[in-house]
Amino acid sequence: MEKINATTKIWHNIIESELLQSLGSSTSAGLNSEQIEEKRRYFGFNLLPEAKSIPAWKRLLNQFDNVLIYVLMASSLITAYLQDWLDTAIIWGVVLLNAIIGFIQEGKAESSLKELRKMLSLDANIIRDSKKQVVKAEELVPGDLVLLRSGDKVPADLRLVEVNNLNVEESPLTGESLPVEKRIGVVDKDSLLADRVNMVYSGTTIVSGLGKGIVVATAKNTEIGKIGDMMHGVVQLTTPLLQKINDFGKKLSLFILISSAVIFFIGKYIYNYPIIELFPALIGLVVAAIPEGLPALMTIILALGVRKMAKKNAIIRLLPSVETLGSVTVICSDKTGTLTKNEMTVKEIVVKDRSFVVEGVGYSPKGEIKEADESIVLEKDSVLYKLIQTFAWCNDSNIHYIDKQWKVIGDPTEGALVALAFKAKLDIADASRITTLPFDSAYKYMAVLSEINGKNICLVKGAPEKILSLSKSQLTESGEEALDKQYWEKEIERFALKGLRVMAAAYREKIDNSHSLEHESINDLIFLGIAGLIDPPRAEVIQSIKDCHQAGISVKMITGDHAMTALVIGKQLGLASEKEAITGSDLEGIEEEAWIQIAHENSIFARTTPQHKLKLVKALQARGEIVAMTGDGVNDAPALKRANIGIAMGIKGTEVTKDNAEMVLADDNFASIAEAVKQGRTTYDNLMKSILFILPTNGAEALVIIGALLLGSSLPITPAQILWINMVTTVTLGLALAFESGEPGVMTRKPRNPQSPLLDSYLLWRILFVSILIGGLTFSIFEYLKSAGYPLQYARTAAVNALVMGEAFYLLNCRYTYQTLFQRGFFSNPKIFYSIGVLILFQIIFTYVPAFNYLFGTSGLEIEHWSWVALGGLIVFGIVEVEKKIQWSFRKNR
Ligand code: ATP
Repeated sequence: MEKINATTKIWHNIIESELLQSLGSSTSAGLNSEQIEEKRRYFGFNLLPEAKSIPAWKRLLNQFDNVLIYVLMASSLITAYLQDWLDTAIIWGVVLLNAIIGFIQEGKAESSLKELRKMLSLDANIIRDSKKQVVKAEELVPGDLVLLRSGDKVPADLRLVEVNNLNVEESPLTGESLPVEKRIGVVDKDSLLADRVNMVYSGTTIVSGLGKGIVVATAKNTEIGKIGDMMHGVVQLTTPLLQKINDFGKKLSLFILISSAVIFFIGKYIYNYPIIELFPALIGLVVAAIPEGLPALMTIILALGVRKMAKKNAIIRLLPSVETLGSVTVICSDKTGTLTKNEMTVKEIVVKDRSFVVEGVGYSPKGEIKEADESIVLEKDSVLYKLIQTFAWCNDSNIHYIDKQWKVIGDPTEGALVALAFKAKLDIADASRITTLPFDSAYKYMAVLSEINGKNICLVKGAPEKILSLSKSQLTESGEEALDKQYWEKEIERFALKGLRVMAAAYREKIDNSHSLEHESINDLIFLGIAGLIDPPRAEVIQSIKDCHQAGISVKMITGDHAMTALVIGKQLGLASEKEAITGSDLEGIEEEAWIQIAHENSIFARTTPQHKLKLVKALQARGEIVAMTGDGVNDAPALKRANIGIAMGIKGTEVTKDNAEMVLADDNFASIAEAVKQGRTTYDNLMKSILFILPTNGAEALVIIGALLLGSSLPITPAQILWINMVTTVTLGLALAFESGEPGVMTRKPRNPQSPLLDSYLLWRILFVSILIGGLTFSIFEYLKSAGYPLQYARTAAVNALVMGEAFYLLNCRYTYQTLFQRGFFSNPKIFYSIGVLILFQIIFTYVPAFNYLFGTSGLEIEHWSWVALGGLIVFGIVEVEKKIQWSFRKNR
């Protein structure tokens, strides 16, 4: 019965008891395990159907949509017209093979990106069996009790049962981007979706406040499911670099066509070649110059790069970021949890004129509180008791013993304060909380209204300067007295100088009887004291920061924490050389020019708000910096969006920040950003290496044909043979470069300028130089064998093998663009040698198998000529290595 109701009720129009009864839920305990199993069987998982991907046949057809392939197909029309059926068939064979390889590889790349998306699936905070827990949103069933807080994405359609300043942005459903304030109660049966203020809908986001709701619809029964929105499963596979390569392909095709026309005229009118001889040569030229395998290779390299980054905890949400990562010049990082471990423990406490040391490690509730080395017994009416009680009650987190370890459920800072309360043997559950003002990094405190001994008391905890500024007096053992601000400031600084994170607490009795709590009413507080928490820096980050500095990337800490704490931790990490940190208040009211200067010259920014983060990104970008910025809170989204690479925290980050980020850190660790930058640079290098490898193949082939035409010689390689070379070298040798682990100096050179052209003068020179070398080798062997009386077929086979061997040796050169191979491990990438092995096997088949002899017009070679071919390759290798050495030392001296 209950199941049927679950899909038919008008949820916004029934009273709460009916809602709970029909879904079998409760506002305190949620569902129990039995109910969940039964409901899961009926309702299934809370997943929207995946967007239909482009049908396979269409994706296959798309592979032909490339100017280079058009030119190839046009050439096949000419060969067909000339009734050269063999060449026509071979061109088509290559076009098809290329499309199939591209199709398969693209499919693989797409599915591996989809896998990554799954790693980012939505979490939901819920209560089941009376226990708070975090589950994947797909596991929700109708009746589940969901907790909402700012930054969350609503995981299903919910009827609200509790709200606290809950504001929701519903634009995915209503198109309205202004947040709507939610309430509880019943709304009119006929009200429109936008007016149903007692409901929140799947896919919308919580902008501020807190709330509790009961799931009423999941999966395709949600409003977003009904309008047929799909999971965003379509993955974009293009990037600025791929775009540049595409444009390059277009220009190359035009160049090939114009050169062919010029050569046609030269051949016909200057050399007087008959058309019947000229055409195959021109087709050969067109076919030779086209790097048809390049686009597929690029996609593979990018996808491999993304996979490697994911393994190192950096999940790329948008493919172009792989390239942008390589040009990042500044990384702006949060402190807490990213540069530090976020494993907090209270170490010291001060109430007026008394200091205490807290023993124990981690979140374990074991440890004593001592005053001057003596254990203390906490009396109920002491200031210390009140301070610890305020920390514990103005708190939404808890600690649990899971997997033989004490862990925090919630915020680590709060978890440490709960552990402190346990050490003080204080019962943390006896507060009768009325309402909450959740922590907000713009305000830097949290407040709750609780009923204690029949009185409504405001309990506040937060950043000490903030709490001080809101206090009018202090509590001492002898009662309330005027606030001694100087004393507290000295104590706060004493803690901060030790790198401790400082938290303060205060309270006041609420005068009016209302049950609401606003920021305006948080003032005239009675200050209780402070606690100092350690949050040790992550050891591996020290090295990562060094690596970044060496790589020409500056690292800035932008934290909400105290200036001195930030500076001390910054120094421990080797981040700061300055004497003072810039604080949020230093930044207020200054001119834009001054912002820009300060942003560039300093590396520690403390007590900042999310607005400062946004302004800092803009200031850095104003001088052309490429900025990566981390963030976790809902208010960080604009800064992340504005940054060139927005980085969200996978563990403590809100869903909104993840949605606005280019990259998500699965482990929240700064070291993973540095690793991602390294991988980004390596991937870009590998893309460039494969271009640098493939283009000289085409160049050499084209030069051989032009040379033959100009010298009036027969073609050293036929169009069919050219296509063979292009295919076998791309799928074997080209692919091997994708697995190269990175140029040695990858993290010691400056970031790449994103405006720089695809091929700089050095790379263009390298392509031309190697084309001439390999082309020259091929041509010489061909001409020599011909003049020595060997048949044309034989000389061509030797020429093809010389060209391929030249390429195989040149592949070794390409492993490092600037350094010589001997400066690095010769055998460090075994895939290179496997691929050369496979290539040799292909060439043996090409040379000796009769069917191939027939198809490609080849014939078996004598051993002596194989050794010439190998020697030729070795010479190419040697010359390029020497050239690299000369170029590199010349560049270094400049
Ligand atoms: P980062 O910006 O590097 O992550 P942070 O956690 O210190 O550092 P915020 O989250 O903006 O930055 O916190 C600012 C200050 O607010 C903290 O230094 C602390 O004093 C206080 N604070 C942090 N968490 C809470 C909380 N849950 N309740 C009350 N106050 C808090």
